[in-house]
Amino acid sequence: MSFQQLNLIEPLQRAVAQQGYTTPTPIQSKSIPDLLAGKDLIGIAQTGTGKTAAFVLPILQRMTERYPRTLRTLVLAPTRELAAQIGDSFAAYGQFLKFKHTVIFGGVGQGPQVNALSRGVDIVIATPGRLLDLMNQGRVSLKDIEFLVLDEADRMLDMGFIHDIKKIISRLPQKRQSLFFSATMPAQVSQLAHQLLRNPVRVEVAPQATTVERIKQCVFFVDSAAKEKLLLDLLLQKHLTRVLIFTRTKHRANKVATYLSSHHIRTDAIHGNKSQGARTQALQNFKLGRTKVLVATDIAARGIDIDDISHVINFELPNTPEIYVHRIGRTARAGAEGTAYSFCAADERDFLRDIERLIRLKIEVMPHRYHSEHAQYAAGMAARPPPIHYRGRSRSFRPRQQGRPHFRR
Ligand code: AMP
Repeated sequence: MSFQQLNLIEPLQRAVAQQGYTTPTPIQSKSIPDLLAGKDLIGIAQTGTGKTAAFVLPILQRMTERYPRTLRTLVLAPTRELAAQIGDSFAAYGQFLKFKHTVIFGGVGQGPQVNALSRGVDIVIATPGRLLDLMNQGRVSLKDIEFLVLDEADRMLDMGFIHDIKKIISRLPQKRQSLFFSATMPAQVSQLAHQLLRNPVRVEVAPQATTVERIKQCVFFVDSAAKEKLLLDLLLQKHLTRVLIFTRTKHRANKVATYLSSHHIRTDAIHGNKSQGARTQALQNFKLGRTKVLVATDIAARGIDIDDISHVINFELPNTPEIYVHRIGRTARAGAEGTAYSFCAADERDFLRDIERLIRLKIEVMPHRYHSEHAQYAAGMAARPPPIHYRGRSRSFRPRQQGRPHFRR
């Protein structure tokens, strides 16, 4: 199928061609016809599938059917990064149309956002908290909204935005077209979708439990204390050209970035404690290849849309298997190849088991030079667990061993 067959108007065809897109991605070919017909939609898709264009293109086209100058489209997104990226998509796909959009998010002064709103916009892309603030101050009115998008709804609920979202939705007109995107569909998310949508079309692109098949996935069983050294070894290999590293905490992200920088690897970290300016700068450096490595926490990395990430490295495994799928989906975007390495310490074995269960795949185990006896046992390479030494404690203090040992860190 081609973009012409999707019946997009000429200015959108031109914009799409200018992006270099030749064929619609599956979510685009499945959603765009129904969205152009005015239907509500529930889309189950991860980032990297082309879902942003799947909603931005038909909304822009429907907006051209009438031209009232008022705020008609609202997109809610969980993070400032994702909101900014969706804003960029409206700018790129709408470059030959005359709509104005603005992006609204917290963590920065509201002045410029209020000014943009008062100059008049057709489209607002917002994180829920700041939008609600501005609504309560009477700076923005949603009474003319015709198109509503909730993007990455599962993440918004994880981040505790449910009450804000409900308050925002209660102020929208009943008559509107609503679109709901989520990578996963736990009960709370599907409940919200049902409250929001009317006879929605359901489009699912990569089923919840499949990992992008093109990604080569490997696991290194390694003690926590040896993870940094192993990371450094890997990063010194030439084919790791643009590497996104995930940690579970902000503190760890900083530590890893400092360690790599001290070994002359150009690295930045992004996480919630960094200012918006620092986050934007770090993303820009990474995009432009000024840094080779970006260390991120899951929330800060949400929606990062950078092509050509050669490797994703899970410095720590996530405790929710769906997050693993999100993380590794940052590589192998738009048809490219990619590799995901995961470091698994003994106390992360259960996380790995859950991940393998979800993706229905046994991840290949990689040998390396920091392979300890404990790690070998965790990897199933040693039949017997090595003894644990309780230094300085008398025998009577020794805890009773249950199942596999958790080794000391
Ligand atoms: P998204 O899932 O919206 O985050 O998009 C993922 C990436 O795919 C972005 O870098 C888009 O620029 C790119 N993309 C979107 N649609 C297409 C398409 N039809 N052909 C090629 N690349 C696309």
